[in-house]
Amino acid sequence: MGKNSHIEWTHHTFNPWWGCAKVSPACKHCYAEALARRFGGAEWGTRGARRFFGDAHWAEPLKWNKEAATAGVRYRVFCASMADVYEDRADLVTERAKLWKLISQTPALDWLLLTKRPENAQRMSPYGADWPENVWLGTSVEDQEWAEKRIPLINAVPAKVRFLSCEPLLGPLDLSALSKKGSIHWIIAGGESGPGSRPMNPSWVRGLRDYCAKQKIAFHFKQWGHWAPATSKSARAQASFTFEDEEHAMRPLGKALSGRKLDGQTHDDFPASAA
Ligand code: SF4
Repeated sequence: MGKNSHIEWTHHTFNPWWGCAKVSPACKHCYAEALARRFGGAEWGTRGARRFFGDAHWAEPLKWNKEAATAGVRYRVFCASMADVYEDRADLVTERAKLWKLISQTPALDWLLLTKRPENAQRMSPYGADWPENVWLGTSVEDQEWAEKRIPLINAVPAKVRFLSCEPLLGPLDLSALSKKGSIHWIIAGGESGPGSRPMNPSWVRGLRDYCAKQKIAFHFKQWGHWAPATSKSARAQASFTFEDEEHAMRPLGKALSGRKLDGQTHDDFPASAA
């Protein structure tokens, strides 16, 4: 299987451009901004320069499509890890038009469009009432406030597959009034990693896991992130953060050691492709 992405839940990552502006608390430690600072070419903020790419970059997904079609499989393509497809700027209009063309030329790829600006998704996409089967629309939801703002917005878009990325998860989520049966097909959850990471209470992830099981929504637990739950007595002795509930203590183990098991289990579910 071809794979150019380190992200667990996708085969490939494609960025139509680099650069973005922060919109909500989940953006506080934006890893894309840190990466762009290291490699250059893109700036963050509404007035920052975006980095654009040439034909060779735009031809990559055509190769993945050919490979998938030949193998008789579907590849998931995460778009975008270094930008937000629905950022509203005049210089992105042409690039976004190139993306829609590319998506129509690659029917063996499922395109996962993840945005923190779902209010723009319907208006900036060319699909009207007839979204293609190979476009999945997702929005980021870090806490209840942003769940209430963003979930109704993606529910209003007639995408064939809709998903939530609850990463970094910054608070408990009660989705019962927000996700009507069948409206959300996939939930990804994860904690924050890197400098300044905010710990994720295990009870918040359990809440999502149990909600998904009850509603028959595919659930993917990506990672604990920098902070791991301290469950044993010796681990609790090393804990340096305890939530107000006093039940959940956390250790700053780092992403690699924290792992991605929740109550001893991995959760790697995906929704069925609509195609
Ligand atoms: S929307 Fe995504 S890419 Fe843009 S600043 Fe926020 S976290 Fe970074």
